[in-house]
Amino acid sequence: MTLTLDFTPAELRLRLLLRLLAAFSGLFSLGVTFGILGVAQVALPPLGAAAGAALALLAFLMWYASADVRRFRSMVIVAALGWAALAFIALLFLLTPAYVGAYQPWLAGATLLGALAAVLLGALLAHTDYSDDTVLPYKTNKPTLAAERSLSWVSSVFAVIIFAAGGVCVIAPIMPATPFAALLQNPPAVAAAAAGCFTLGICAAMVAYKPRVYGEYVMVILLALAVELSGHLLVLPELVALAGSLSATAVLTLATISFILLALIAFWRARRAVHDSLLDYLRFFTPGQFWALAAISDGLIETNDRDLLKPHEIALRVDNYLASFPAPKLALSRLALTALDGLFPFLFGLRPPLSYMHLQEREDFLNRHFKTDLVEGRGIYAVFNALRLRFPSDLAEGVMRFIMQFAYLGYYGEPKVQESIGYKPFSQRAAERSIPLKPIVRYPKLKVMTPQEADRLGIDLIEDADVVIIGSGAGGAILAERLLKQGRRVLMLEKGRYIEPEDFTENEIEMIGKLYGDNALQVTSSLRFTILQGSCVGGTTVSNNAVSFETPPSVLQRWNREYSAQIDEVAYWEAQRQVMERLRIAPVDATAGTRPASEIVNPVSHLLAPGIEQVLGKEGYTYQAVKANITDCLGCGYCNIGCKYGRKLSMLDEVLPKAQMEHGDALQIYSEAEAIHLQEENGTVQEVVVRLGGRRMLFIRNPKTVVVSGGTVASSWLLMRSGIGKHLPIGRRLSFNMGSPLHARFPQVMNAYDGLQISHYIQTQGNNDFIFETWFNPPVAQALVMPGWLDQHYKNMTAYNHMVAMGVVVGTEAREEAYVRGATLFPGSAEVVYTPTDADLKKLLSAMEVMGKILLAAGAEEVLASTRSYRAYRSGGSDDPMRTLREVVKRDDDLLLSSAHPQGGNPLGAVLDADFRVRGYRNLYVVDASVFPSSVTVNPQLTVMNLAWYAGERVV
Ligand SMILES: Cc1cc2nc3c(=O)[nH]c(=O)nc-3n(C[C@H](O)[C@H](O)[C@H](O)COP(=O)(O)OP(=O)(O)OC[C@H]3O[C@@H](n4cnc5c(N)ncnc54)[C@H](O)[C@@H]3O)c2cc1C
Ligand code: SF4
Repeated sequence: MTLTLDFTPAELRLRLLLRLLAAFSGLFSLGVTFGILGVAQVALPPLGAAAGAALALLAFLMWYASADVRRFRSMVIVAALGWAALAFIALLFLLTPAYVGAYQPWLAGATLLGALAAVLLGALLAHTDYSDDTVLPYKTNKPTLAAERSLSWVSSVFAVIIFAAGGVCVIAPIMPATPFAALLQNPPAVAAAAAGCFTLGICAAMVAYKPRVYGEYVMVILLALAVELSGHLLVLPELVALAGSLSATAVLTLATISFILLALIAFWRARRAVHDSLLDYLRFFTPGQFWALAAISDGLIETNDRDLLKPHEIALRVDNYLASFPAPKLALSRLALTALDGLFPFLFGLRPPLSYMHLQEREDFLNRHFKTDLVEGRGIYAVFNALRLRFPSDLAEGVMRFIMQFAYLGYYGEPKVQESIGYKPFSQRAAERSIPLKPIVRYPKLKVMTPQEADRLGIDLIEDADVVIIGSGAGGAILAERLLKQGRRVLMLEKGRYIEPEDFTENEIEMIGKLYGDNALQVTSSLRFTILQGSCVGGTTVSNNAVSFETPPSVLQRWNREYSAQIDEVAYWEAQRQVMERLRIAPVDATAGTRPASEIVNPVSHLLAPGIEQVLGKEGYTYQAVKANITDCLGCGYCNIGCKYGRKLSMLDEVLPKAQMEHGDALQIYSEAEAIHLQEENGTVQEVVVRLGGRRMLFIRNPKTVVVSGGTVASSWLLMRSGIGKHLPIGRRLSFNMGSPLHARFPQVMNAYDGLQISHYIQTQGNNDFIFETWFNPPVAQALVMPGWLDQHYKNMTAYNHMVAMGVVVGTEAREEAYVRGATLFPGSAEVVYTPTDADLKKLLSAMEVMGKILLAAGAEEVLASTRSYRAYRSGGSDDPMRTLREVVKRDDDLLLSSAHPQGGNPLGAVLDADFRVRGYRNLYVVDASVFPSSVTVNPQLTVMNLAWYAGERVV
């Protein structure tokens, strides 16, 4: 998007002038403050620092004003008055011959410069109008608040003192006999200091007059005072040393420092209090971060759609969501917002913060630095690329993506916006089609010990535990069921929350926060690869698609042959048979009940068939409905945010409640109970330390058996942080089913959201490298993966109901270079180090090419990949349009990559023996996806459950 600022030529000239003058006075201020210009600072304290601050004040005023000359018109006026004051006072001194001494040229220069700047600013200003059309901050209509009155009071007192100080400077020439005479011997510095006091006084007076309207001046005042303070502090030690004792100058400097410190604290606190009380509904962001997010969101939405949701409303929604999202990693969002708002504009061209910029300039800035230059490796990125530094570009892209995704959460989570892109929530669809929504309830409600209940009962220590299972997902729950059948007692610890299915809602963001926790924000250390995992009672099975692929026999054989997993294959296949029976795993179109199969599958599945035949007909393929632990599906499309209707036989809906019904208190489940340490002695775990509700400890002493089933990454991390198995390759050899979705825009309305998210798969004959799956999401999740940056993303989302997406599952190599380690930014939590190999990337690209061809053959107008350099692939011409994908993707960071299927880290045969026991430990086992020696290459949940069933006979 090329933007033309709608500023008039006069406004553009004014902006340029402001920037030039700001740069000049900023540099001059540095020179004076730090004595670089040969002005011996120490010879003129405290006026040297005051003069430096005066210039800095003018620089800041003009710098901020240049961000939007309409919105900050008053700042231009104040700056012009400041320059005029400088000219006037310098002239006054010039006309006082006894006082001028050798400073005549300086005073003449100051007079001329001040007058010229004031006249030019005034002249250009006369050609511009005030307009609040681009005023970003929405105006609250709260009556005047106590905090505003306090700020007004602070500003008034400050203004009076500072005007008085300015006055003293102005009348300096006629006061040579005063004790301050020594201080007044540098007329240019006195003139600048006086002009600075005068300008600062105006700023403070304006804040005092209308704190809500002129509140932005406080920032300028604070910055100028900070510059002055540093100037004083710089020379203070020298002053004291020079005088041998405290001289009058040193005393005055000390007094000035104290006054400035006081003023800084008073302004800072008063400003904070005003922000906090004006925006007292903020629960997560600080006011500054809130405005920054509003400003960035403003740049992401087309003007026409601002009526649907205003930028500040987007930011408010995000604030609300994040406040209810229990994820420490969200602190990163604050950091990212601050960097994007203030740091990046400064680094990329000394610009004022984004939230001050005019909307179009803001969009232009974001587009230039986070789209064009980044993608094409231009500007500063060209320098990084030349130095072979990938991290700065990745960081800039990561920060931008992170923030954009927040804006998408806020925007696409709004029902009005969802309606505008053609989405209808299932409750509405069901009402229109008279679909009965009564949930299937098979078992009594699960009994779960929440932290509140544990507090009420005063539970601190458990000393009679039999089997402790850490994690309640696919591995943990199935194993629990098996062990309970053998008469064991199970104490299950789950880090995530317990959410009853009847409390599931259609609100994606709310459900993501509840069912995924921190793991919805998991990225590898390079920030380029997202790893999605669930976290709640029932583990990822609550939010997964329940697609169940049998373990490929070749994979099992390879695990035994190459990795010495020592799995008894006969027993394993029997376990798989029993799991499939237990969870009624069958093709989704064969178990339809309430609604016919044709209505619950993904609406796209029928349309793809001719395209698949055209592309794969010759080599042969399978295209059919996936098997899943789903019965009588309603086709709502909400599998990834939890099935409210009891159709998905997840651990939460089926396995855990049935086990508790049959075995009563022998199964105890603690929610929000994170195992943080395993205390071992001589190869026996003697204590499990648990953090309950994120705040207090629970100790489980002398458990007979401990099974870690926290899933890939978390299980390895728990062992690593507990110092278990230092001699073992724990946390190494991770593998993934890696994917990158392809989207396709069709001419007709597809409503791909209206049915199972994944209902069909395609497998080419004789090729086990990848599987394709039909796949689509409700709006928020789709927005998070929609290709295109900024405006292009927005355009693609407006075609939401014409879009179709497909996923591909490509098993990656299990390598030593893919591993878990302690997170750099968040001590105490884990991060994954992973970069796909060229071979894996090639496999993925080949799969994407085939997938793209299928979509085009099925009638798509264009196919879109989530590449850093955006491109649409269209049919036509003799060439294969998808071939160019390889030109666009040369390295892994050219493509958005993710995995919802992380595997490995505690592989059988290496970390674990054939009984799933951690080598060298008597009572410690691991049973979950982390035990895979290499990628299973199909959706893994059934293999996890098979292994857990199989392990049931081996864990003692
Ligand atoms: C969106 C999505 C869709 C998916 N769809 C499919 C699909 O259709 N088919 C398929 O085969 N696979 C799918 N998967 C993957 C599949 O769900 C997982 O591979 C499987 O659930 C892994 O089982 P697990 O037992 O290893 O871990 P999980 O099921 O993830 O369970 C681990 C549990 O342990 C808890 N935990 C972690 N650390 C601790 C600790 N220290 N203390 C206490 N508790 C802890 C976690 O909070 C979590 O609840 C999907 C995954 C995602 C994210
Ligand atoms: S689509 Fe998924 S969430 Fe909806 S009813 Fe079927 S299984 Fe449940």
